[in-house]
Amino acid sequence: MPKPKILISGASIAGPAVAFWLVRSGFDVTIVEQSAALRHAGNGVDIRAEALTVISRMGLSVAVRERAVYTQGLRFVDVRGRERARVSTAGLEKIVGSEDVEVTRGDLSALLYDATVGDVEYIFGDAIAELEQDDEGVDVTLRSGTQRRFDLVVGADGLHSAVRRIAFGPEETFVQFRQHYFAAFPADLAIGEHGWTTFYNEPGRSAAVFGADPGKGQVNFMFHSDQSLSYHHRDSDAQRRLLRDAFVGMEWHVPSMLDAMDKTDDLYFDALAQTKMPSWSRGRVVLVGDAAYCASPASGAGALLALTGSYRLAGALAEGGISQAALARYEDAQRDLVKLKQSQLFTGITVPRTRAGILARNLFLSSPLIGVLSRWKADHATSLREYTFSPGKV
Ligand SMILES: Cc1cc2nc3c(=O)[nH]c(=O)nc-3n(C[C@H](O)[C@H](O)[C@H](O)COP(=O)(O)OP(=O)(O)OC[C@H]3O[C@@H](n4cnc5c(N)ncnc54)[C@H](O)[C@@H]3O)c2cc1C
Repeated sequence: MPKPKILISGASIAGPAVAFWLVRSGFDVTIVEQSAALRHAGNGVDIRAEALTVISRMGLSVAVRERAVYTQGLRFVDVRGRERARVSTAGLEKIVGSEDVEVTRGDLSALLYDATVGDVEYIFGDAIAELEQDDEGVDVTLRSGTQRRFDLVVGADGLHSAVRRIAFGPEETFVQFRQHYFAAFPADLAIGEHGWTTFYNEPGRSAAVFGADPGKGQVNFMFHSDQSLSYHHRDSDAQRRLLRDAFVGMEWHVPSMLDAMDKTDDLYFDALAQTKMPSWSRGRVVLVGDAAYCASPASGAGALLALTGSYRLAGALAEGGISQAALARYEDAQRDLVKLKQSQLFTGITVPRTRAGILARNLFLSSPLIGVLSRWKADHATSLREYTFSPGKV
């Protein structure tokens, strides 16, 4: 019997992660990615709690730890660079007994790609243009004109998912703007301290530098905006202009950070937004990761949700085959974690809206209360059942 064919749109975190498990269950998997190659941009992403379990079940714990970025914590400075608060990640880990690992998003994506490339067909520089589904399968037309039929289509194509738009409806129906914009790009600037992310804030604006070994430094900008701004999410010149406008007149090292932004070709810029949907599947089309339940960079949970969601989706399909019941079981298993992470945003810490808010944040982070908060967060980890992946079953 021919293997059931699955097409995945998007090769960042969720796409390769779901493919990793699907090929182990006997599915024939193709991934189409609109970029010409894997994208490298992105900050360190936190792999914690259930995501560590998934990485360990994938046999990738050692590889992930080899790529770990050792972050000491966060520092908050005033305009003259004087430290006003400091939170040590190592200190927090001792308190919560956590074994969190931080890797850059690009390294995690490359690792998942390397772990799947021999078993999965990757198509770069193309994208789904049309989907037509019937009871037996889905006819897919790519932008290049290629036409193929699959048994299931998985949208792992992020916040601005094309699969979601084509199969479920317009982005505005499902994506809620969270009044902030976020940018990240690599830059080695001699600012702050090695191993620490140093933040400078003005009301509603945050500029941060992660000081690291050459080639590993990062800059982030975050700013508050009541209105959603008009630009195309792939127009990086427009994004640079928006960032310059948003940070005009900001002191500290912000002018040299903006100059570094102009020199990079690896800028990530997006709205802080959340995807909220009543259902993540429609017939033979299903969504995973940010496409279905983006919690936003301010949640620190993008990789966690993508890795657990991919594992649960592939596990449900491995055990139940391509069926409505299996897709419903994936949703049942993943919903609670999504609800929790979408309710925990840290913009009050990273981008206070007023001078009083900046002061209060600095006082709070210098107090023992921070340990209590970490313990509260750790207690809310949900359980992750183990699925059976066996090639003979599907
Ligand atoms: C370049 C980049 C940098 C990022 N930087 C950060 C960061 O610094 N901090 C943070 O918290 N989060 C960042 N994110 C988001 C983070 O990766 C996700 O929140 C999380 O890891 C979930 O991943 P995902 O695979 O579901 O979605 P994403 O990581 O958003 O990946 C979606 C993938 O789909 C591709 N794609 C988009 N549209 C199409 C289409 N029509 N057809 C085919 N492919 C398509 C994209 O190129 C991308 O590779 C970044 C994402 C990207 C793509």
